[in-house]
Amino acid sequence: TATITATSLIVAGYTTYQLSKQYQKDKEIPTIKDGVEELIGNTPMVKIKSLSKATGMEIYAKMELCNPAGSAKDRVALNIIKTAESQGQLIRGQPGWVFEGTSGSTGISIAMICNSLGYRAHISLPDDTSLEKLSLLESLGATVNKVKPASIVDPDQYVNAAKKACDTLLKDHSGAKGVFADQFENEANWKVHYETTGPEIWKQMDGHIDAFIAGCGTGGTISGVSKYLKEAKNLHGKCHVVLADPQGSGFFNRINYGVMYDYVEKEGTRRRHQVDTIIEGIGLNRITKNFHLGESFIDESIRVIDKQAIRMAKYLSVNDGLFVGSSTAINAVAAVDLSRNLKPGSRIVIIACDSGSRHLSKFWKEARDVERDISLDKVMEA
Ligand code: PMP
Repeated sequence: TATITATSLIVAGYTTYQLSKQYQKDKEIPTIKDGVEELIGNTPMVKIKSLSKATGMEIYAKMELCNPAGSAKDRVALNIIKTAESQGQLIRGQPGWVFEGTSGSTGISIAMICNSLGYRAHISLPDDTSLEKLSLLESLGATVNKVKPASIVDPDQYVNAAKKACDTLLKDHSGAKGVFADQFENEANWKVHYETTGPEIWKQMDGHIDAFIAGCGTGGTISGVSKYLKEAKNLHGKCHVVLADPQGSGFFNRINYGVMYDYVEKEGTRRRHQVDTIIEGIGLNRITKNFHLGESFIDESIRVIDKQAIRMAKYLSVNDGLFVGSSTAINAVAAVDLSRNLKPGSRIVIIACDSGSRHLSKFWKEARDVERDISLDKVMEA
């Protein structure tokens, strides 16, 4: 009987253990959300197994593409709207407009969140914006204002056009509610990454992060996350912050050499390096408020050329099932580059900003032709 009792105790103990494990799993099932905006944030972290194995590092991707409108910009759009509400520019339950000048993800995030919160979105963009983005914005019911492509100093440039449309509404209709989102200059942008993305990364990594890598469009992501990680008192060791920059962008020189523009020396004079890039959403040749507020937290910039990013996108897709956009591919190239200078086993986090499905007609048109069994050495070839 002693043996039978002991066996029963072991079985009972094991069953309780299994049940508690199941309970732990059940606890991870997300709760019911009260609207699409509550789905924003708390994005997963995934280990990129192929790159980790090949480099001897632990390389992770913060899956911002899992946000409901498909990118990290959901956080920004929601915080811009909430900030406008706290300042009385929008009132929940009353009609109101959100204006933005963008050909990218921010417009899509604004359009989706406006629908959920009862506002209207008015998006100005250059008339050469890709059909897939235009169609997405129109499907979401945004008012789309197409303008001729122009320089930022031109009053009819799309960002300036968005501000003008907002000013006109407020001037011509007394009592109308509206806000110009202004993602490049609006501090609600970096703040939401400081308050949410940064702490989430810290928690998911248990404070063990040796390096963090992101690109820079407005600068909101890299500024907010880096500020949080640099200030985190309970971080195990220092976190090295890297800005991954595409060809033709000025941030690389700004961070590494203190000059913003991408110059070339030619015939004794300095000329702007006119290199275009296929990468969308990152790389600029001017300093915006959201970048400037966080640039002191960035330790280094790594330049990535288009060819490397195109090959990396295919590599991640076929080896890891990660179907990512161009800016994520750039971050992954920078992670492999950086790994050459890190101790084995170092933990690197990159931002996976959006999915490849946003980039089918341009970036992925090139990436899908890359050979399936490409080696990582070939991916990294300049
Ligand atoms: N990746 C993509 C695809 C983007 O659209 C953007 C923003 N334009 C970024 C990265 C960079 O984010 P941030 O604006 O926070 O610098």
